[in-house]
Amino acid sequence: TPNLKHIRQNPGLYEQNSVDRNYAPYAKNGWKILELHEKLVTLQHEAVRSRQTINGLEKQLQAKRAGGREDGSSTSTTDTLIAEAKALKSALESRIDEEQRWREEMDRLALELPNLSSLQTPVGDQPKLLGHINGEALPTPNHNRSHVDIGRELDLLDFEASAVTSGWGWYFLKNEAALLEQALIQYALSVALKRGWQIRTPPSLVYSHIASACGFMPRDQHGETQIYSITQDADAAKSSLVLAGTAEIPFAGSQANNVLSEHDLPLKIIGPSRSYRAEAGARGVDTKGLYRVHEFTKVEMFAWTAPPPSLSSSDDGGFGGEEDTQTQAEVIFNEMISIQIEILTSLGLHARVLEMPTTDLGASAARKIDIEAFFPSRTGIDDGYGEVTSASICTDYQARRLNTKVRYAKGDVRQAFAHTVNGTALAVPRILACLLENGWDEESRSVKVPECLRRWMPGEIATIRA
Ligand code: AMP
Repeated sequence: TPNLKHIRQNPGLYEQNSVDRNYAPYAKNGWKILELHEKLVTLQHEAVRSRQTINGLEKQLQAKRAGGREDGSSTSTTDTLIAEAKALKSALESRIDEEQRWREEMDRLALELPNLSSLQTPVGDQPKLLGHINGEALPTPNHNRSHVDIGRELDLLDFEASAVTSGWGWYFLKNEAALLEQALIQYALSVALKRGWQIRTPPSLVYSHIASACGFMPRDQHGETQIYSITQDADAAKSSLVLAGTAEIPFAGSQANNVLSEHDLPLKIIGPSRSYRAEAGARGVDTKGLYRVHEFTKVEMFAWTAPPPSLSSSDDGGFGGEEDTQTQAEVIFNEMISIQIEILTSLGLHARVLEMPTTDLGASAARKIDIEAFFPSRTGIDDGYGEVTSASICTDYQARRLNTKVRYAKGDVRQAFAHTVNGTALAVPRILACLLENGWDEESRSVKVPECLRRWMPGEIATIRA
C-alpha cells in the first residue's frame, strides 16, 4: 500500500527527494502518478455516464417488451436498442480493465519511489560528524599491518581454502578467530538482552517480494544485483527465494499482514544471522580480507514503533509534524545507537558517529546513522575509518509495503502503519578485522582480547599454541 494520496498531493516534493537521494530515474514518478490519477478520474466519470445510459436503454427495452405484446411494435427498434446496450457494456468492460491496469501502474510507480528523507538528514553526499567513541584523537599504532597479515601469522584466517571451495569474498575462520566470532555474538546479544530486547533467530532465505517490500530490490539504483537468488522453480516468480542480505528482511517480514496492538509497541527484537551480499561492483582494496565478503554473521536489532500521534491518521508518511518532541521511533533509534556505542566502547575501538546524507539512505531509510571505526591498515582511505554499524528509521515505508498496522485502544478509530527501525548490534567480520589490527602488538606478536569477551575465550591470541 504505497501512499498514493500524499504522492499525488506533493509530486514536487517526491521529485526533489528522489534527486537528493540519487534516485533520479524515478524523479518524475510522482508527476506520472498525478497524470494517471487525472485520467482515472475522467475514466470513472465516463463509466458512471455509460452505466446511466445502459440503465436508460434497459428501461426502454423493458417498456418496449411490456408494450410490444399489445402493439407488436417493430422488432428492429428493439434490436437497435439491444445492440447499443451491448456495445456500451463491452466498452464499459474494457474501461474497467484499463482502470485496473492504470491502478497497477500507479502502484508500480509509487513502489519505486524511495522513502522521504528526514529533516535531520544532510542533503547531498557529505555526512555530518556527530561525535567520537573512545576519544577524539586518532590512535597512533606502531604498525600498519592488515588483519590478513596478522591472521596469517597467527593461523586465524584461511582465504586459500575458501578460494578453492567458493571463490573470491569467502573465508574460513580458524582457531581463536572462530572463537572470537562466537564471543562477539554472545557479547552483543548480552548488551541488548539486559535492556529488555527479545531474542529471535530468523531464516536466512526469504521470498523476493518480502525483500522488495523492505526496500531491497532485485537490482539497486545503479542497476546492479546485490541479492543472491535461489531459483528452484522458474515459474514461481513471486515465490522465488533469495538469500537475506540482512536479518532486517525476515524480521520486518515476520509481521507482514499483521496488526500490532499499540500496547505491545515498541516491540524490540535482536538476533544473530548469516547475511549474504553479492557485492556486485565491489572493487579495489576491500576485495582482500574480511572487510567486504559475501557471507557474514551479524547481530541485528529491529523494532516496530507507534507512529507519532499527530501523524497516525494523516498522509504525510512520517514527516511534517511541527512538534519537536521525540517520536517512539527516534527513542528506539537512539537506544540502538547507545547499544552500538556501548559495544564499541568496551571493545576499545576508536570510532566516529555520522549522520548520513541523503545519497546514502538507500530506498527505505528516512534517517541513518553510521559508525565508522579506525583500522590501522586503512590509513590511506578515509583516514583509516571504515563503517562498522548502521541504524535507520524507515518510518512507515516498510510497514506500508508489508501491511503491518497498529491497533489502538478500544473506541479509538485511528488506523495507522507501524514505523520500523533497524540497526546493527555487531557485524562480525569487520569488528574481527578491527580487533586484530588494533589489538596487535608488534613486539609480543600477539593480539590482546578485550576484557568484555574473556568470558567466552582466552585473553590473548599468540603464535604458539599450548
Ligand atoms: P548494512 O546493512 O549494509 O548497513 O550493513 C550493516 C553492517 O554490516 C555494516 O556496517 C558492516 O559492518 C557490515 N557489512 C555490510 N556489508 C558487508 C560485507 N560485504 N562484508 C562484511 N561486512 C559487511
